[in-house]
Amino acid sequence: MRRYSAFAIAREAMRFHTGWGRAGRAPEPKKHYDVVIVGAGGHGLATAYYLGKNHGITNVAIIEKGWLGGGNTGRNTSIIRSNYLQDESAAIYEKSRSLYETLSQDLNYNIMFSPRGVMMLAQTEHEVRGYKRTEHANRLQGVETRFISPTEVKKLLPIIELRGPRFPVLGALWQPRGGTARHDAIAWGYARACSDMGMDILQKCEVTGINQTAGKVTGVETTKGAISCDKLGLIVAGHSGHLAEMAGFRLPIESVALQALVSEPIKPCMDVVVMANTVHGYMSQSDKGEMVIGGGADGFNNYTQRGSFHHVEETVRALIETFPMISRLKMLRQWGGIVDMTGDRSPIIGKTPLGNCFIDCGWGTGGFKAIPGSGWSMAATMAKGEPDEFAAGFGLERFREGRFIDESVAAGVAH
Ligand SMILES: Cc1cc2nc3c(=O)[nH]c(=O)nc-3n(C[C@H](O)[C@H](O)[C@H](O)COP(=O)(O)OP(=O)(O)OC[C@H]3O[C@@H](n4cnc5c(N)ncnc54)[C@H](O)[C@@H]3O)c2cc1C
Repeated sequence: MRRYSAFAIAREAMRFHTGWGRAGRAPEPKKHYDVVIVGAGGHGLATAYYLGKNHGITNVAIIEKGWLGGGNTGRNTSIIRSNYLQDESAAIYEKSRSLYETLSQDLNYNIMFSPRGVMMLAQTEHEVRGYKRTEHANRLQGVETRFISPTEVKKLLPIIELRGPRFPVLGALWQPRGGTARHDAIAWGYARACSDMGMDILQKCEVTGINQTAGKVTGVETTKGAISCDKLGLIVAGHSGHLAEMAGFRLPIESVALQALVSEPIKPCMDVVVMANTVHGYMSQSDKGEMVIGGGADGFNNYTQRGSFHHVEETVRALIETFPMISRLKMLRQWGGIVDMTGDRSPIIGKTPLGNCFIDCGWGTGGFKAIPGSGWSMAATMAKGEPDEFAAGFGLERFREGRFIDESVAAGVAH
């Protein structure tokens, strides 16, 4: 793989950009791989990348029924933060956030990480208490957050109306090193690095069955034929229930549509990410100037990748209360993704009832920020056959044991 650099750009400019090679290979499937990963979203690709980088396992196939990052990884609002309440969550999300800091250099691919700061507004006394509690928990966990006053909120975010008609702004939980990154670039950057290590990314290849004997997976059936493997990773977000059914076990997961929308581009007017959980909406401004707005998840299970119309209406109405200046913006695009929700709003990483089959799912509405950390942890878990320090609390068995990692508050608006 040719490295991207300022010199490469200058060289290619001189020869009219005729020398750039393909970013990755388009291989045909082999008969056998050491590891097969189902799902070329961010989590699947990151797992493959760290399998190669940290554990030297490169005979790997990543099988994708659509295209690279065409699932939730390419559909999210790209918020990155680690201000979760429980120790297990703070540990893995902070690991992930810290990997994001240097991911562009690591992958030699500009992922446009922008640690512009994430602000979670407190608009009720209950929220003030909740966020102060999170601030104290984060201090013990080594996560840098601070509860800030309404005056500081206004200073960081001049377009905000502090005295909203229903809910005044009483302060905010502020994470200065939270922010955003370009979501497609995460998929492309990891994919390019995986391809460079000799791994096969098989796009437009759907897994239709999971072969097994004596409680162990032997391979998968795909639309491009059967592929055998020593270890299998299921990393398919909203489709996890289907894959688990193919493997013969059930997951405590529901799949629902979550949606987002963007406005027409306008001049820069806010340089932080803001989340308003009470009125339920959140917003940031993209590099192109569009206001990126996220809404709620549908209240019923579905696979539509669209989302219901009333959510758009409710989200926009809620945000206009706090940001009246957006009321005259035109909305350009709206879309949805299928997210995989667990009861405690925490992910599942680890072993399955089949000895050599592992699963990474349940990231629900907030797994973009977790991609590097999850990949790091899932790769270690698959390589060693046992959950690593980050995955230890997130196993499937916690649902049987009633040992939940309750993040339903930290995951309120949930991104
Ligand atoms: C509108 C929206 C906004 C969001 N905003 C944020 C945010 O701001 N911050 C944040 O942290 N998170 C956010 N999220 C959540 C985040 O996008 C997801 O948690 C994360 O992208 C999940 O990544 P993944 O790799 O697990 O899944 P995906 O990216 O969905 O990848 C799974 C892949 O598996 C493939 N697949 C499925 N079945 C098969 C099969 N049988 N064979 C082969 N391939 C298969 C799919 O085609 C898909 O490409 C948001 C999600 C949505 C929908």
